Amino acid sequence: MSLTQEQRAAIDATTHAAMVAALVKPGQDIIQQLTPGKANALHMAVGASGEAGELLDAIKRFVIYNKPLDRENVVEEMGDLEFYIEGLRAELGICREETLTANKFKLLGKRYASGSYSDAQAIARADKA
Ligand SMILES: [Mg+2]
Repeated sequence: MSLTQEQRAAIDATTHAAMVAALVKPGQDIIQQLTPGKANALHMAVGASGEAGELLDAIKRFVIYNKPLDRENVVEEMGDLEFYIEGLRAELGICREETLTANKFKLLGKRYASGSYSDAQAIARADKA
């Protein structure tokens, strides 16, 4: 889709802050549409994201700072991550086997149909085409 010159000028004249104010979903609307199940799903997803960050930090200390791997901490963070992922699966009625099967079909059935890794297949991302 190409924009007209007028559309481009209007977008160019809009500040980023004004755009965000115009496009953000009002918090009150989010609250009105919230259910206990949605709140729990959000809790689990936010928790998984936070734990992924903690795991990433542990790996950063190991790889980037060249510190010894704090295996105990990595195991703890992986467990924390599993906790939130399991909670999210339970809330959404998705079993672990379903996610593992979907992952196998995505990777072996589409992205890496050759059965092994290659940069070309990683870049092409055939499962997203
Ligand atoms: Mg943690």
